[in-house]
Amino acid sequence: MNKIISSIIVFLLSANTYTIVHTQESSEEIKQTAIVTGEIVHETAEEEISPVKAATRSPVSTLTTSSWWNYPEDIKRVTRSGDDLLALVNKEYQLPSTYAPTDLVSICSHVTNLRCFNNANYLIRRILISDLQEMANAAIQDGIDLSIRSAYRSYATQQSTYNYWLSVNGGNIAATDKISARAGHSQHQLGTAIDFSSVEINDGLGGTFASTQASKWLADNAWKYGFVIGYPAGYESVTGYSYESWHYRYIGKEYAQDMVNGGMILELYLRSKN
Ligand SMILES: [Zn+2]
Repeated sequence: MNKIISSIIVFLLSANTYTIVHTQESSEEIKQTAIVTGEIVHETAEEEISPVKAATRSPVSTLTTSSWWNYPEDIKRVTRSGDDLLALVNKEYQLPSTYAPTDLVSICSHVTNLRCFNNANYLIRRILISDLQEMANAAIQDGIDLSIRSAYRSYATQQSTYNYWLSVNGGNIAATDKISARAGHSQHQLGTAIDFSSVEINDGLGGTFASTQASKWLADNAWKYGFVIGYPAGYESVTGYSYESWHYRYIGKEYAQDMVNGGMILELYLRSKN
């Protein structure tokens, strides 16, 4: 019996010794691996800090603390079709230059109780016409005047629109990126985004719209008809754009209800779906 117990003790001791040795070997292996890895990293670092590359590279600080209006370096294609009401189009996800909806119709030829600024032929997808009509009727019944200042914009139009704002801002890219999308990055290419105005501000476009009854009415009611604000106040760092009280995007009544129920803004709602 004693022999058996002592054999077990000897076995356990030897097993323990083996474990210690093995651990030491492992530690040594890790050390060696670290040294090799360190050399690789070192070589890579030297390679990257060549004078030519360093001269053309942005300062490291802007890479780590990118400003909210900046575009990411890695621009991706939208994951859903542009025809999809939930397509995420933002500063990171871009529509192809060739994308255009196939069911565009003239808003003011199809919707009443809604004025088109300068009788312009604003285009929008046919699928949202009936809900837009319903919203226009509800607004009129509440004594709210709504006009349209912009709707569908082709890829080419976005290029000229961006360049227009760039010239207005004296070539200041940062200032322009806060208020205007580069080509392929605008929700207007989807044919489901509308910029509203009102007689209250003589159909002006921009920041003054936030002070109107029409703006308040849309903020309170548009979602019931499937339209939600694209760039809400206080979320600039999320959307990448300044507050746009006038810009609404149609995602359909059910999704709008779902978004509101979830207490989400459009950008985060779409990210959760893409
Ligand atoms: Zn807009």
